[in-house]
Amino acid sequence: MSDDESATMYKVLVTGDSSVGKTNIISRFTSNEFALENKATIGVEFGHAEVTVSDGTEVKVQIWDTAGQERFRAITRGYYRGAHAALIVFDITKAATFKNVPKWLSELHEHADKDITVMLVGNKSDLKTNREVATEEAKKYAQQNSLLYIETSALDGENISEAFNTTIDTMHKKLK
Ligand code: GDP
Repeated sequence: MSDDESATMYKVLVTGDSSVGKTNIISRFTSNEFALENKATIGVEFGHAEVTVSDGTEVKVQIWDTAGQERFRAITRGYYRGAHAALIVFDITKAATFKNVPKWLSELHEHADKDITVMLVGNKSDLKTNREVATEEAKKYAQQNSLLYIETSALDGENISEAFNTTIDTMHKKLK
């Protein structure tokens, strides 16, 4: 039994290049909303969720957005500190955002715990005709680097809850 005071709290980061859809992925998961405008604010932003993991435990999750800091390569240490898992997001219609994934992964390995659970997320799966990154290529990279892989759309909601639930479940199994 866990109540609000004693429930496990996990910190999950959502990283990746600007405009890949991080903010919309978070808001889709935490409030099922989608914003068509680009945000212009910079600062620390996070959402909250309560998730029941596969062993039945209810856990609380704090989901941290880079909140624009990634534009200036000035992500603060506090962002990475104490993180249990991360989603590294790229845009399947922009090859450059996939090419930057190794940079985001090494940032994580440098600043966060070594055993952090990482999910690679190919977002904007609704824009299939503009695809620049093949699913197989992304999957192969994920396998080679011990990452989970999923393709999502924050626009139509495809695989958004799966992306978070699989990450949180894997992390919980590893840490409990
Ligand atoms: P961030 O900078 O990574 O936080 O990206 P945002 O969440 O601000 O999204 C950047 C832009 O991409 C916005 O114009 C969103 O409306 C759009 N966007 C985000 N996710 C998707 C998606 O899954 N599909 C489509 N078609 N557009 C998306």
